[in-house]
Amino acid sequence: MNNNSFLSQRKKEPEKETLYIVGTPIGNLNDISQRALNILENVSLIACEDTRQTKKIMSKFNISNKLISFNKHNSSIKIPKILKDLKEGKSIAIVSDAGIPGICDPGEEIARSVKKEGIDIICIPGACAAITALVSSGLPSSSFVFEGFLPKKQIEREKILLEISKNQKTTIIYESPHRLKKLLKELNDFCGGDREIMVARELTKKFEEHIGNNINEVINFFNDKDILGEITIVVKGIKRDLVPDKLIIKKDLNDLISAGLSLSAASKYLAKKNGLKKSEIYNMI
Ligand code: SAM
Repeated sequence: MNNNSFLSQRKKEPEKETLYIVGTPIGNLNDISQRALNILENVSLIACEDTRQTKKIMSKFNISNKLISFNKHNSSIKIPKILKDLKEGKSIAIVSDAGIPGICDPGEEIARSVKKEGIDIICIPGACAAITALVSSGLPSSSFVFEGFLPKKQIEREKILLEISKNQKTTIIYESPHRLKKLLKELNDFCGGDREIMVARELTKKFEEHIGNNINEVINFFNDKDILGEITIVVKGIKRDLVPDKLIIKKDLNDLISAGLSLSAASKYLAKKNGLKKSEIYNMI
């Protein structure tokens, strides 16, 4: 297939009455695609998470267009206006500060509203920190769970941490640099220090780093450092046939007791569930 026949597979872009979800770089501006630049230059308007960020891309590639701000604070006012513009035949691009809109960034809500109205949505794919970290971690990548940012409320957070500790699939987590040490400690408590992990810092940027190999090593690495930059964490899942480890059973036991079960009843239940003796569960406390 030559280049021209490849291009001719698509209609001329941008098309009218279409919302374009445009992926932008997560650091290295050269990661923007030709197709993304064409859309950004030629749509009727661009809805940006932060117009200052989008202007940096526009000026690097010498393109200009009408920018409007679109973020979680103004989305309820902006969505009806965007829908009206689309129905009038305009083409609109939505971009976030970095990566794919809708992945822990504004985009999900507008996509849902646009879809509901029967208007076309086309994604112009681009960099995503989660996928970039996953494939460079060397951990199983054909099936995975994306958690995004863990909840801040401790009870909800622990529920997810427990799920991660038991998950057979690789888990991807976003975290801010100043909360990374706390998260690593929690992962250590729930998964054990031997669990394989990779912390990707500053992906695609000048000081890109991949720190592993297990939770203990990563904790030691960051122990005496101030952590800066953007962080994505990839945690390996457990083997299917692995006997539930002590940490998980201990956590289950605590959960059952806090839910109101007596120690004896909780131990009896967990012994049956895990194929162990009740005394073995007692010994874990
Ligand atoms: N929409 C983006 C995407 O597609 O990846 C994610 C936006 S979310 C608000 C920002 C989080 O993504 C950061 O806190 C960090 O966890 C992760 N992230 C973004 N850029 C990164 C980078 N260059 N290196 C590592 N993690 C990054």
